[in-house]
Amino acid sequence: MSYYTHLECTYCNEKHDANMVQTVCKKCGKPLFAKYDLEAIKENVTRQELVDRESSMWRYWELLPVKSRKNMVSLGEGWTPMTHTPRVGKEIGLKDLWIKDEGIIPTGTFKARGLAMAISKAKELGITRVALPSAGNAAGSMAAYGARAGMEVYVFMPKDAPKVNMVESEIVGAKVVLVDGLISDAGKLVKEGTDIMNWFNVATLGEPFRIEGKKTMGLEVAEQFDWKLPDVIVYPTGGGTGIIGMWKVFDELEGLGWIGSERPRMVSVQAEGCAPIVKAYEEGKQESEFFPNAATKAAGLRVPKALGDFLVLRAARDSGGKCIAVSDDELMADVAQISRAEGLFVCPEGAATMSALKRMIASGDVDKDERVVLFNTGSGLKYTDLFDVKAPVVDPSKAFDYKSLQ
Ligand SMILES: *Cc1c(COP(=O)(O)O)cnc(C)c1O
Ligand SMILES: [Zn+2]
Repeated sequence: MSYYTHLECTYCNEKHDANMVQTVCKKCGKPLFAKYDLEAIKENVTRQELVDRESSMWRYWELLPVKSRKNMVSLGEGWTPMTHTPRVGKEIGLKDLWIKDEGIIPTGTFKARGLAMAISKAKELGITRVALPSAGNAAGSMAAYGARAGMEVYVFMPKDAPKVNMVESEIVGAKVVLVDGLISDAGKLVKEGTDIMNWFNVATLGEPFRIEGKKTMGLEVAEQFDWKLPDVIVYPTGGGTGIIGMWKVFDELEGLGWIGSERPRMVSVQAEGCAPIVKAYEEGKQESEFFPNAATKAAGLRVPKALGDFLVLRAARDSGGKCIAVSDDELMADVAQISRAEGLFVCPEGAATMSALKRMIASGDVDKDERVVLFNTGSGLKYTDLFDVKAPVVDPSKAFDYKSLQ
């Protein structure tokens, strides 16, 4: 069973009813967190029991907000590989380097976790029509899970979002709207349409449950390393739900006594062309400001202002980690380096974590003996538009110079 009890504001701690549809805090407008009866879980469940459970994020049922299994909307998301990457590790001088590979997940990115959870919980609360502003990948995931739940799905994304996101959303039946602007403009349109269309807005941290799906990444990191968290986790940050979710669940795990008080240093990575949280971090601020002219090839990082920015900053600072911006040239070069060394065709956002790690090694922020986990948040297969092919074209009626391939 689920031990979900209620919602609590991340800013002013105001409590909210778990059995009603909720968005953000009624008092202050900040994001809400789901809370659980950790004492009861502690009495009834051991971490050893998890071993035989399903190979998906739903193995952590007690720590998830969906009450009834019949409301679970799943395509098999989660329990992704934790891949040791010694070849690329050697290239950069780290022995204990790992990549948590979210490329192997329904819809091709970790967005599936958040939207599987949000759609399941929406179903449980009786919602049948959902809308979402997205930089691209979230739209694809919501469209898929919405279809599976039999809901009406509306997605708004920038008109220069990756084409694959428009196609995957439309093919599974969502109504797609392309916005001549950024995700923030798409967000305004969804918000303003709420009264007219009577849809539920599933925008990042505008509802409490996407984060509950994302936090399962932190649970898997813990379990896959036998409940000993790594020294450093490097995560690419757009809206921030990945890093916030993991940080949240580490506290829950400590509450259960399944881990101790030690934490990884949480490193939040953004692209130089859209780095509002890094800017706030460097200026010692608690919140970010809208980042003008946001542009990067790592489309998932193109979020000029995140509702949960203060929570990302808190996780980075409280853990002794940091926030780092890297250039598109660096991250594109690292797509190639990781892919060649390990056979993992990573997404640009995932590769950005390698670019940041290289900077931290150079500055002495990471030691060569430390255990580091990079998050590849999606499959490179969703980004083929960004790459040129250098293959020769051969006329089969003529003699082919095979040696030219070497
Ligand atoms: C959305 C996205 C991110 C950013 O994730 P947040 O949790 O919103 O910070 C990173 N990588 C990919 C591939 C994404 O789609
Ligand atoms: Zn509040």
